[in-house]
Amino acid sequence: MSPKKKKTIKSIIVDVDKCNGCRACEVICSAFHAKPQYSSANPARSRIRVIREPFTDMYVPVYAGEYAPAECAGRDKYIINGKEYDECAFCRASCASRDIFREPDSGLPLKCDMCESDPPLDKPMCVQWCLNEALIYEEREEEVEEEDSRQEAEIGLEAMADKHGWQTIKDIVARISKKD
Ligand code: SF4
Ligand code: SF4
Repeated sequence: MSPKKKKTIKSIIVDVDKCNGCRACEVICSAFHAKPQYSSANPARSRIRVIREPFTDMYVPVYAGEYAPAECAGRDKYIINGKEYDECAFCRASCASRDIFREPDSGLPLKCDMCESDPPLDKPMCVQWCLNEALIYEEREEEVEEEDSRQEAEIGLEAMADKHGWQTIKDIVARISKKD
């Protein structure tokens, strides 16, 4: 068995009852991730979207998860406190059946990165901007297999290589190695 190591799990708990659909979270998420940062605010580029049905007082903030290459085959309905929610209202996937969580120009999937930044933020931007406290940030420590974290590092490296190219990654690693 491979050795264990500690990992910080970050999550955002959504209190649907407190959300009033103001969309401040969408605005700040898109602005924080704009290039250059804060140069624009376009909710279509946000990694959190609020599913809104004002006539039924239904507001569900959903933050973007994994890319799903295919639509799911069936849909359920949920009835919570007398309100009827479509299954897609809670789904975090960037999926072909709807037009959220896709970068509008390129069509590439968007995924919440918990506002990764250097230096790190105390709390993600959407949590900071939600004045109704509908978004609650939590961190917890979990023990994971060393192998799992290696796989994650590989996935992270592949994502960076997609963005910047393998040669750039190799140059950076070579430069850092020389410093050691
Ligand atoms: S900022 Fe908070 S209250 Fe406003 S839409 Fe987002 S989650 Fe809802
Ligand atoms: S945590 Fe950051 S990246 Fe994720 S939805 Fe909130 S503002 Fe966007």
